[in-house]
Amino acid sequence: MLRSETLRSYLERGISQLSIEKKQAGIEARRLGQKILLGKRIDEHLGAMLPVLMRGERKRNKVHPSELHDGCSRKLWYDINEEEFSDLPDPIPASLQLTFDIGHFVHLYVQECLRQQGILEAAEYPIRNRKRKVDGRADGIVNLRKKRYVLEVKTHGDFTTKHLKYAPIEKHEGQASFYANELIQQGEQIDGIIYLYINKNTSEIREFIRPVRKDLVRAMNKIVDEGLSKTLPSKRKCKVSDSQRACSCPYRTTCWDQS
Ligand code: SF4
Repeated sequence: MLRSETLRSYLERGISQLSIEKKQAGIEARRLGQKILLGKRIDEHLGAMLPVLMRGERKRNKVHPSELHDGCSRKLWYDINEEEFSDLPDPIPASLQLTFDIGHFVHLYVQECLRQQGILEAAEYPIRNRKRKVDGRADGIVNLRKKRYVLEVKTHGDFTTKHLKYAPIEKHEGQASFYANELIQQGEQIDGIIYLYINKNTSEIREFIRPVRKDLVRAMNKIVDEGLSKTLPSKRKCKVSDSQRACSCPYRTTCWDQS
């Protein structure tokens, strides 16, 4: 009896002590919270950096393979001919820039893992074709069991995971196939493409090994040919001037003012 009484009072004292400490911790956290706001600082910093980052935009008089799948030959034509922007898209918010940067760091992490194992032959492998003004970079070239693959690394959230059951996303297949095809045309040995999808929330990795999608490459080459032609392609990709694609196009007004 005596023992259980002692134990009870001991526990009660402990609980009341804990609740005092919890309150003090809350007061302290509120006091510190008014002084340290790192998330806000990062937001402000990225916001200030954005004009600088945007000046370093990709060159406009080049064909960028990442924009070719389901792309617009008219937009490419304006890019190649360095037409003035008629509609500047809204700058990307700082939080989105942070998402891009995190994706970039995951790329570096994967490339370094593969490099340390002697699998990665080269990272950010340049894909160039001067005549066709192609300027891009594959995430890497990997050597596995005497075969040579183009490496495509993608980071994504849970939403994309649902679309990754059996195959890579077609847009990504288009981009990587275009790279692989350019290298094959230039005489390099390419035996296929390895796609690594990394879920940023769970770190789960999904992997696909696929051949070059010639059907997608043909469609993308058609866009390049039209975009490099002397005259503005007559066919618009956008059906109406207020479609989502048109509204994010920097040549929207010019495009819809011209026939
Ligand atoms: S507005 Fe649409 S059709 Fe016109 S250039 Fe831009 S993407 Fe192409």
